[in-house]
Amino acid sequence: MIKHDTAQYEPVIGLEIHAELKTKTKMFCACKNDPDERHPNVNICPICTGQPGTLPVINREAVDKVIKVGLALKSKISEITKWDRKNYFYPDLPKGYQISQYDNPICVGGVLNIPGFNKEIKIRRIHLEEDTGRLVHFGHVGHSLVDFNRAGVPLMELVTEPDLNSGEEAGAFAEELQLILRYLEVSDADMEKGQLRIEANLSLREKGLNQAESLVGRTDSVKESVLGTKVEVKNLNSFKAARNAIDYEIKRQTSLLEHGKKVVQETRGWNELKGETVSQRIKEESHDYRYFPEPDLPPLKIDFGLVEKLKTTLGELPQDKRDRFKKQYGLTDSQINILVNDEKFAGFFENVVSEFLNWEKIGLDKDSLLTKDVDAKPHLVENEKQTLINLTANYLLSDFLGFLNEASAEVDDIRISAEDFAEWIGLIHRGVITSRAAKEVLKEMWASGKDPSLVIKEKNLIQIKDIDVIRLIVSKVIAENPKAVEDYKKGKVASLQFLIGQVMRETRGKANPEILKKILKEKLK
Ligand SMILES: [Zn+2]
Repeated sequence: MIKHDTAQYEPVIGLEIHAELKTKTKMFCACKNDPDERHPNVNICPICTGQPGTLPVINREAVDKVIKVGLALKSKISEITKWDRKNYFYPDLPKGYQISQYDNPICVGGVLNIPGFNKEIKIRRIHLEEDTGRLVHFGHVGHSLVDFNRAGVPLMELVTEPDLNSGEEAGAFAEELQLILRYLEVSDADMEKGQLRIEANLSLREKGLNQAESLVGRTDSVKESVLGTKVEVKNLNSFKAARNAIDYEIKRQTSLLEHGKKVVQETRGWNELKGETVSQRIKEESHDYRYFPEPDLPPLKIDFGLVEKLKTTLGELPQDKRDRFKKQYGLTDSQINILVNDEKFAGFFENVVSEFLNWEKIGLDKDSLLTKDVDAKPHLVENEKQTLINLTANYLLSDFLGFLNEASAEVDDIRISAEDFAEWIGLIHRGVITSRAAKEVLKEMWASGKDPSLVIKEKNLIQIKDIDVIRLIVSKVIAENPKAVEDYKKGKVASLQFLIGQVMRETRGKANPEILKKILKEKLK
């Protein structure tokens, strides 16, 4: 048996990622760009269906969006960019060519830092092109239909340098890019809807050879001799597929080389069911596409003033937000990641926290139960703020996120305001309600949008701290559960938990857990 030693080879991976841009209209015509349109061939016109004599017009919004991505990734924005025809025949491409950008993309260079890996991946280029139509196959009746709604939708293509070394890194890169596109509101980048598509170029090079940086601008054959034969992997329809397909391909190519065989330059697809890549076709060289400058569109001059203006619209990017959240709120990395992965969720968290700062400044609302509790202090006391922030993060990422997921809702859709959520956290923190009753209160807030103090009053959920009241209920529970009492006395610890549960049930979760436990233990001695 041949031993598989991967130590001799190093995977060299570059990604090509396409993202459908979120624009009002298509790339070169005034048709609606609506990815949710269910009726086929509704958003079409003579331009995007390739009728003779029609002329394309550049969509400014799409160009602006690609510039924004370039600025976010520290690319150089070209002063002059141009369009090229990429010629090939396919039934979903009515013109017989795609308008793309060959040698003069909008953005050149750039970097993306993959979070968690602390590794900078260089970007080679980002360009703009148009999407194709969509073929719908009816295998059972033996024919296919074509839907041109997607034909001509603005499509951004980002190409990385071959700086990645594993499926895990490639997946993390693509996830971070998706997040950046969403933060910039450039694309919804939903992989399930095909709005974000990943292709990987992968080869194995012998360890110890020159680094890829020295290959910039070299010919394909020079690159191949240094980097190994390149295989392109397509059909990566999820981040998981991207990770698995790349790792599979690393193993496959390693095994070929170790058996003295050659890697064939080809395009391979990912078969999710079998968990393997399969050969699709031997790769075309770029001259097969006969790229040539698009005669119907003049080169586009990108105004310096426009670039400066777009810079001011970038907003806070995911990595900046992570850094700030760490510094400002002292949360854990995993808490920060969950929050930052959904910009609106992160925004809700910050709104809740800023409510606490309001208490600090102006004190609590007079109607709030927070001010009516005996222990209540009108303002935040020292160190209370950090406790409230931690409680907020914990409850948002557990109970609240649970509600969101269960309802498949987004933060925007909910009826709980940040102010009410902050008050709810305060009510738990200051012991007005038990954490158990808090769940019931939150459920009602979620359903009705009522503020927590009102829910607590209506449902009579204020925490019972009165020792005599709790003692009475404990006596009742002990009398009604002789078996559990006996078991506990024999040493069965779980019975205590059962009895606590019974008291909680009697009080609808309102008994102070510490007091209750203390009394119960005393009585069971
Ligand atoms: Zn059109």
